Amino acid sequence: MTRKYIDCREFPSETNCSVAISADSDEELLEVAVQHAVSVHKHTDSPELRSAIRGLIHEGTAPEHVLPPGASTGVPVGVRTH
Ligand SMILES: [Zn+2]
Repeated sequence: MTRKYIDCREFPSETNCSVAISADSDEELLEVAVQHAVSVHKHTDSPELRSAIRGLIHEGTAPEHVLPPGASTGVPVGVRTH
Protein backbone atom coordinates (compact mmCIF):
# COMPACT_ATOMS: atom_id res chain seq x y z
CA MET A 1 0.00 0.00 0.00
CA THR A 2 1.29 3.42 -0.89
CA ARG A 3 2.06 5.72 1.99
CA LYS A 4 0.46 9.12 1.90
CA TYR A 5 1.86 12.26 3.47
CA ILE A 6 1.19 15.88 4.18
CA ASP A 7 4.17 18.16 4.64
CA CYS A 8 3.41 21.19 6.78
CA ARG A 9 6.39 22.98 5.24
CA GLU A 10 4.23 23.37 2.11
CA PHE A 11 1.54 25.08 4.12
CA PRO A 12 2.60 28.69 4.68
CA SER A 13 2.59 29.43 8.39
CA GLU A 14 3.99 32.05 10.70
CA THR A 15 5.63 29.41 12.83
CA ASN A 16 7.68 27.86 10.00
CA CYS A 17 6.27 24.54 11.06
CA SER A 18 8.35 21.63 9.73
CA VAL A 19 6.09 18.74 10.67
CA ALA A 20 5.40 16.04 8.09
CA ILE A 21 2.62 13.55 8.76
CA SER A 22 2.28 10.21 7.01
CA ALA A 23 -0.23 7.36 7.10
CA ASP A 24 -1.52 4.51 4.96
CA SER A 25 -4.92 6.00 4.21
CA ASP A 26 -6.32 9.40 3.34
CA GLU A 27 -8.77 9.18 6.22
CA GLU A 28 -6.14 8.56 8.89
CA LEU A 29 -3.92 11.22 7.46
CA LEU A 30 -6.72 13.74 7.26
CA GLU A 31 -7.75 13.17 10.88
CA VAL A 32 -4.23 13.66 12.22
CA ALA A 33 -3.60 16.64 9.98
CA VAL A 34 -6.83 18.30 11.08
CA GLN A 35 -5.87 17.80 14.73
CA HIS A 36 -2.46 19.27 14.01
CA ALA A 37 -3.92 22.26 12.15
CA VAL A 38 -6.36 22.95 14.97
CA SER A 39 -4.00 22.48 17.92
CA VAL A 40 -0.82 23.96 16.48
CA HIS A 41 -2.03 26.42 13.88
CA LYS A 42 -5.25 27.51 15.56
CA HIS A 43 -7.37 26.66 12.56
CA THR A 44 -11.02 25.83 13.04
CA ASP A 45 -12.13 22.35 12.07
CA SER A 46 -14.51 22.86 9.15
CA PRO A 47 -15.36 21.26 5.81
CA GLU A 48 -13.30 24.01 4.13
CA LEU A 49 -10.24 23.22 6.25
CA ARG A 50 -10.63 19.51 5.53
CA SER A 51 -10.88 20.02 1.79
CA ALA A 52 -7.85 22.34 1.87
CA ILE A 53 -5.86 19.72 3.77
CA ARG A 54 -7.03 16.99 1.41
CA GLY A 55 -5.46 18.99 -1.40
CA LEU A 56 -2.08 18.75 0.36
CA ILE A 57 -2.01 14.96 0.45
CA HIS A 58 0.80 13.44 -1.60
CA GLU A 59 1.62 9.84 -2.32
CA GLY A 60 4.91 8.41 -1.12
CA THR A 61 6.99 9.69 1.76
CA ALA A 62 7.88 13.24 2.68
CA PRO A 63 11.06 14.53 1.04
CA GLU A 64 13.96 15.33 3.30
CA HIS A 65 14.09 18.94 2.20
CA VAL A 66 11.43 21.39 1.11
CA LEU A 67 12.57 24.93 0.58
CA PRO A 68 10.57 27.25 2.76
CA PRO A 69 9.30 30.41 1.06
CA GLY A 70 11.97 33.09 1.16
CA ALA A 71 14.80 30.75 2.09
CA SER A 72 18.12 32.43 1.50
CA THR A 73 19.44 29.86 -0.94
CA GLY A 74 19.54 32.04 -4.03
CA VAL A 75 16.67 30.04 -5.50
CA PRO A 76 13.67 32.19 -6.40
CA VAL A 77 10.72 31.87 -4.06
CA GLY A 78 8.30 29.21 -5.20
CA VAL A 79 10.88 27.10 -7.04
CA ARG A 80 11.49 23.66 -5.63
CA THR A 81 14.47 21.53 -6.40
CA HIS A 82 12.58 18.31 -7.01
ZN1 LIG B 1 2.18 22.49 11.16
